[in-house]
This record gives sequence, C-alpha cells and structure tokens, in this order.
Amino acid sequence: MKITEIKSHVLQCDMPEELGYSQQYYAKRTAHLVEVTTDEGVTGWGECFGPGNVALANKAIVERVIQPMVLGMDPLDRDVIWHKVYNLLRDHGQKGMPMQSLSGVDIALWDIAGKVAGLPIHKLIGGAHRREVRAYGYGMMLKRESVEDHVARFRDEAAEIIGMGFTATKMKTGLGPKADVRLCEAVADGVGEAQFMVDANHCYTTSDAFYVGRALDELGAYWFEEPVAPEDHDGYRELRAGLKVNISGGEAEFGRWGWRQILENRGLDIAQPEVCALGGITEYLRILALAHAHFTPVINHVWGSAIAVATNLQLLAAMPPMPGGLHPWEPMLEFDTTENRFRDHLLSDPLDIQGQVKRNGGMVSIPDGPGLGVTPDPEFIKRYEIE
Ligand SMILES: [Mg+2]
Repeated sequence: MKITEIKSHVLQCDMPEELGYSQQYYAKRTAHLVEVTTDEGVTGWGECFGPGNVALANKAIVERVIQPMVLGMDPLDRDVIWHKVYNLLRDHGQKGMPMQSLSGVDIALWDIAGKVAGLPIHKLIGGAHRREVRAYGYGMMLKRESVEDHVARFRDEAAEIIGMGFTATKMKTGLGPKADVRLCEAVADGVGEAQFMVDANHCYTTSDAFYVGRALDELGAYWFEEPVAPEDHDGYRELRAGLKVNISGGEAEFGRWGWRQILENRGLDIAQPEVCALGGITEYLRILALAHAHFTPVINHVWGSAIAVATNLQLLAAMPPMPGGLHPWEPMLEFDTTENRFRDHLLSDPLDIQGQVKRNGGMVSIPDGPGLGVTPDPEFIKRYEIE
C-alpha cells in the first residue's frame, strides 16, 4: 500500500460571538483536517492543532514540506514515517508548527491502519481499559465586559454547565489576580458540589499564581491549569511544592524530549498532552508511557473538531489505569461547551457528546468502528473550507 496524496482542509467560520482567554479574543473558529489518500482506496483523517493563520501556515507545511517526504511510502509504516519526517525537520522545528503538522498526518495514518485491520485505534494500541469516559464541560470564557459582569455571568454559566449533565467544569481567568479570585469564588458558588477547574493559559507571574492558587486551595478547585509560562519550569516546580491544588499543564509542550524535561522537573500533578500538536498518536503513546513512568496522571488536552474529539476518545479508552485499583483514578474527556459546528456537525454520524452527557450522567462512550470510528461529511467540509 502506498500514500498517493496528503491534503489539508482548513475550515473556518464566524463564531456567534467573540470569546476570549487570557491571551486574546477570537471571533472565528478554525479547524485543520488532514486527509491521507492511498492507492488502495483507503483514506485516513487527522487533525492539526492551531487556529486561524497558524492553520494556514501548517497547511503549507503538511502539503509542501511533509507530503513530498512521504509520498509513495507505506502508510502502515507509521513509526518509520514519523522518524523520517522528524529527522528531516529537526533543524527547522523540534517544537511548534512543524510538530502540529506532523501530528495531523500521523493521526491519519493511524486511522488508515485501523481501517485496514478493521479495528478501532484503541484495539491497535492494546484494547479498551474503559468503554466510556467522564466528560468535563469547559466554558466561562472572557469577554469585553466589566469585572462585575464577568462575576455574575461566570456564576450562572457554571451552574448552567452542571445543569447540562457535566459533573465537572472549567473556567478561564485572565482579568488580573484580584478580579480572577472573584471569578473563581463565583464559579465555586455556581457549581455547588460539582468539581471545578481553573485555566489561566499561562498569564501569571509566579507570585501572582501563588496569590490565585492560595484562593483555589481554600475554594477546593480540582486543578490550576497553565498558571505560568510553559517555559517557566522553576515556577511550575515551586507552585506544585507550595500549593494544595493540583497543578496541570503541558498542552504547549511537544515531543518526548520536551515532555521528558517537564516530567523530570516534577512541576505537574496532572499532565495534559495535546495529541494534535505534540506529534500525533505515535508520539503521544511514548509520552503517555513517560508520564506513567513518572507516576504522573494524564488528562488529555482536547481542542478542535470531531476528528480531534474522536482521536482523544480512542486514546482515553486505551489509557491504562495508573496505578489502578478497585476505584481507580480515571481520566476525563475535555469538552468545550461553546458553539463549535466543526465538532457537532462535521460527521455524517455525529458523536452527539452533549446528548450522551445529558442521558448518561456525564459519561461519553468510545466509538467502536474501524480507525477513528468516525467519518467526516465531504459536503460539510466543502461548505466551510477556506483554501
Ligand atoms: Mg488549557
């Protein structure tokens, strides 16, 4: 079997309203899908992390840089392809956009392998440790509104997300440490007995992160995500040693060598690898093993279209319990509760995560079809493809 073409599809639409996190506001939704075609009629789908113009630049890397390296190769040789591409790109990007681009291609190759074997990806990896996984619903994004308005809205939205059936929710911060503590108090109030988590998207200095983190210790937040810049390894280690709340992060880390450093640094209670950025499923599995070798539990970072969600469902099924037990610690599926048509309407047979959560007490089942177990609708892709 040979790879005959690798095509990127960048989908984009205006969002119903502008939303923000600590770094920026955004008004457009983007998804970057990768389609790998073979000479035997089997097609695989993958996804690259990266919004807006990053997706367009990654499209050029996928089609003009990676495609010529692997055309004619056997798509089942995933690890051979991974290392060929990585070694040829090493001098030009061991992290960032080249790795995001390789990720989408690698995921598509796993989809092909599953389709050829007639097995879901979790079977190729080693089987399902769980048939369903708990989803947490994130929302509570920043807007161009006053602190008072944020506080009132966050309290309501937290209660609303729990009302949708999610048993845990995640909020953004980024208005400044004092205002952020007020937001956290409002969410703690809004969720009642349910779990809540806080995502700073690396906007704090270490001392500001301690200020917010001490409030989270009191409020009983489950985790404090990306409190400081991903490069600030010392900050992570100091926060983890000094706070009760779990410190999480890693969505902006790439490859096994980057992950080795942050795991050895002991600054994470929970690792959040992003499979569509760090190097795809092939590299994710190595990073999962590395995380478990450090006894660091993993909750995947999930962002993007239904392809990314399906990929993560396969990986969450195949994640071994660590350390295991009668009532083991369990991972969760991250789920964005804001409007995302590229997730909800991309597939010919939608996953209907929100419906499952509502009906099944916050749980989502693992697709059982070959490969990713999902099929994108070509008409839908045509409608939103920008180039
Ligand atoms: Mg995050």
